[in-house]
Amino acid sequence: EKARIGVTGLAVMGRNLARNLARHGHPVAVHNRTSARTKALVEQFGDEGTFLPADTPEEFVASLERPRRLVVMVKAGAPTDAVIEEFAPLLEPGDMIVDGGNAHFADTRRREAALRERGLHFVGAGISGGEEGALHGPSIMPGGSAESYEALGPLLEDISAKVDGDPCCAHVGPDGAGHFVKMVHNGIEYSDMQLIAESYDLLRHAAGLAPAEIAEVFRTWNTGRLESYLIEITAEVLAHTDAATGKPFVDVVLDQAEQKGTGRWTVQTALDLGVPVGGIAEAVFARSVSGHAVLREASRHLPGPTRAKVAGSSFADAVEKALYASKIVAYAQGFHEIQAGSAEYGWNIDAGSMAAIWRGGCIIRAGFLDRIRAAYAADPHTPTLLTDAHFAEAVGDAQDAWREVVATAARIGVPAPGLSTALAYYDSLRADRLPAALTQGQRDYFGAHTYRRTDREGTFHTLWGGDRTEVDA
Ligand code: NDP
Repeated sequence: EKARIGVTGLAVMGRNLARNLARHGHPVAVHNRTSARTKALVEQFGDEGTFLPADTPEEFVASLERPRRLVVMVKAGAPTDAVIEEFAPLLEPGDMIVDGGNAHFADTRRREAALRERGLHFVGAGISGGEEGALHGPSIMPGGSAESYEALGPLLEDISAKVDGDPCCAHVGPDGAGHFVKMVHNGIEYSDMQLIAESYDLLRHAAGLAPAEIAEVFRTWNTGRLESYLIEITAEVLAHTDAATGKPFVDVVLDQAEQKGTGRWTVQTALDLGVPVGGIAEAVFARSVSGHAVLREASRHLPGPTRAKVAGSSFADAVEKALYASKIVAYAQGFHEIQAGSAEYGWNIDAGSMAAIWRGGCIIRAGFLDRIRAAYAADPHTPTLLTDAHFAEAVGDAQDAWREVVATAARIGVPAPGLSTALAYYDSLRADRLPAALTQGQRDYFGAHTYRRTDREGTFHTLWGGDRTEVDA
């Protein structure tokens, strides 16, 4: 018997993905550089399905039916290149290598082009949901050629999460599109988490609620429009008590957030594409600020506002509105980046279908994503989710509370960079006139960078150092 698919790299992700495939009745070849992992997998979970363990790359490749589908689940970066170089010479035209790791989409584009030259398909597949998702059904974002998706898609759809019977897996687009979308997904995740963290902080310091009480607030929110995996686990974390000290768990954890880099990539890429993603950027920066222990220690004595708690009983409702409106902004910014990337690289990404496959399996799964799917179904070319009828109404209804929350944060000196930047973005988009006109004037003054006018075509320059007449540039 041959295996329908193979997985090399059997750490947590690869092992669970292989088990997921086997549990769905797909004979799966398994291989790992250190064969102890392969043995352990078969010993512990061999009864879950058909595993074909291989000690060597040659054995592994020989055990796969054609076209060969070889999933690489190793450490992202140089190890991925090393593994590709190890296996590619053993493959034949039409076979495919699937990289399920967290690769940068530029690496995926490079690898895809190189393997295409050699007659092989290369699929960069974003996989979200962590190790639990890999085992029980992740959200999968495969890139690569349409032809490769024909051979691979049904298998991936089979093992992906399902929402209302629909698989949380769809062909994203050519070459690096899948890893690009996975990257932005992670960026949105950063933003979502930051907004939730700020909401907690405000409930604590403006409304004076204890962590257990805030857990209850989040539980209530989780029954409404904010219903999501992240809100659900937030309530769990806030309700948890540290066994050693009896204190709220959240009070004994060191307040320095870490990151692996996909949020940073999202922001770096957005800068390159010229897409404003302030919500994601502030989330990345907020983690960065938290980690600057020396800077924070040196700044501890800086004066804060003289007023303390000010919030009334309706403050939690206001925070819910601010959070919802800011969340809409976060997703609007993320989807803007996806559409800009799609245009830049000619990927033709269907934004609505990305929202659909994020509804299950991944960290940002939420009922909310159905709304986004509906927004793109109503208008696939909408320039921003904010103008969708449902979202525009929700933000319009929330805005007074949103402003009050941001103002409260500023007044009492609680940092709320995510909520604040989201509001500033909203107000920037809706502004009749932006002070960018003044910026243009300054640029023309010091650098003769020229400007355009509102009342006629052309490019102009004012002779600032002379008689200040305007000339055609
Ligand atoms: P790790 O990222 O910890 O990688 C360990 C695996 O890589 C082992 O199988 C190891 O083999 C193999 N490996 C490392 N270097 C080499 C090399 N030079 N040649 C051959 N094999 C090598 O594993 P994870 O399971 O955590 O993640 C796998 C991929 O999935 C990563 O790209 C990760 O970013 C991504 N991912 C992880 C998620 C998670 O929640 N952990 C979620 C989504 C994606 P050996 O046993 O011989 O050391």
